[in-house]
Amino acid sequence: MVNHTFGPATVAAAMANDTLHDRGLPPLPSYSLEPTGDVFGWISDFWLSLLLPVVVYWVMSLFFHAIDVLDLFPQYRLHTPQEILSRNHASRYEVARDVIVQQVIQVFTGAALAFSEPAEMRGKADYDVAVWATRLRLAQRVLPSLLGLLGLNATAISKSVSVSHPLLAGALAGGYYPFAAASGSSAPAFLPWELLAARVIYHLLVPALQFLVAIFILDTWQYFLHRLMHTNRWMYTTFHSRHHRLYVPYAYGALYNHPIEGFLLDTLGAGIAFKLTRMTVRQGTCFFAFSTVKTIDDHCGYSFPWDPLQLITSNNAAYHDVHHQTWGIKANFSQPFFTFWDTLLGTKYKGPRADRLADRKRREKAVDARAESRSKQTT
Ligand SMILES: [Zn+2]
Ligand SMILES: [Zn+2]
Repeated sequence: MVNHTFGPATVAAAMANDTLHDRGLPPLPSYSLEPTGDVFGWISDFWLSLLLPVVVYWVMSLFFHAIDVLDLFPQYRLHTPQEILSRNHASRYEVARDVIVQQVIQVFTGAALAFSEPAEMRGKADYDVAVWATRLRLAQRVLPSLLGLLGLNATAISKSVSVSHPLLAGALAGGYYPFAAASGSSAPAFLPWELLAARVIYHLLVPALQFLVAIFILDTWQYFLHRLMHTNRWMYTTFHSRHHRLYVPYAYGALYNHPIEGFLLDTLGAGIAFKLTRMTVRQGTCFFAFSTVKTIDDHCGYSFPWDPLQLITSNNAAYHDVHHQTWGIKANFSQPFFTFWDTLLGTKYKGPRADRLADRKRREKAVDARAESRSKQTT
């Protein structure tokens, strides 16, 4: 526990005499490690990381399949059900079979990845939080110099607010808080705001950054490999043309690929993102499951106005659908999350969406309206 006796007089005295400054950093707590337990009692984290993306894939695909079969949202369809039958060059059976093959490869690769990881241990969180608090304390050391660059005298300001705002005075002085001491000892201690900020960094900001960097790595990996598959004729005909047998994508066609392409593009891409961002197995499980959900959504065949996955990222089913059309196949290579590579490298489709269902319906409506007004005029 930290004992804070906010003594303005103490701060003022400390400011007055540099030798009284408590220059020592708060000590880091000791810790002992023990193996991390599993999230659920009925399945190990290892198996959860391997099976969750597969389960999520089929559950979400069946959900979209039900929407398709029951024709619940015809107004948001990108193509008609007839187009799925007439324009696709792969049967539903072939698609499901190849997806399962890819998922078997994915599970074995995931197992190899998990085995290559050191055993996960817990018990170090408080220590790591204290390390972040130390970094925050050290960052405050440069505040006087930074303010000096702006022509401000940090010491003078610190002294002037030491009575009214002792915390601010301590920060401005370079993170010196002589009034903060661990209970029962004279050792310096962290302030509550330093520990709170350190906890937020450790438990929220760092994992969020790992997730965002992983998304960037996966998007980058997929964009360039996908684009290469379109520029290299051999790679296209040997591997990637299989995915393009689906001119009208549907949810469980998302991972319909040649097994080698599926391994290189999806499995390896996600594995590299996981390794480079040094995620834990649990973080990796969330990332793999989320990537799976996103790629299904990108192939779902619907442009929903209320689907959060289609709203929070620039890539979505309507965007990727363009790439599945003969007129858009040389554009929109980005997948599965964002479209910045298409934007930066000028491969975003800019032409008309010639066969979008919505456009066609709008044209049909306009024709109907014109015919109606003509008939009114004649009567
Ligand atoms: Zn393609
Ligand atoms: Zn696709």
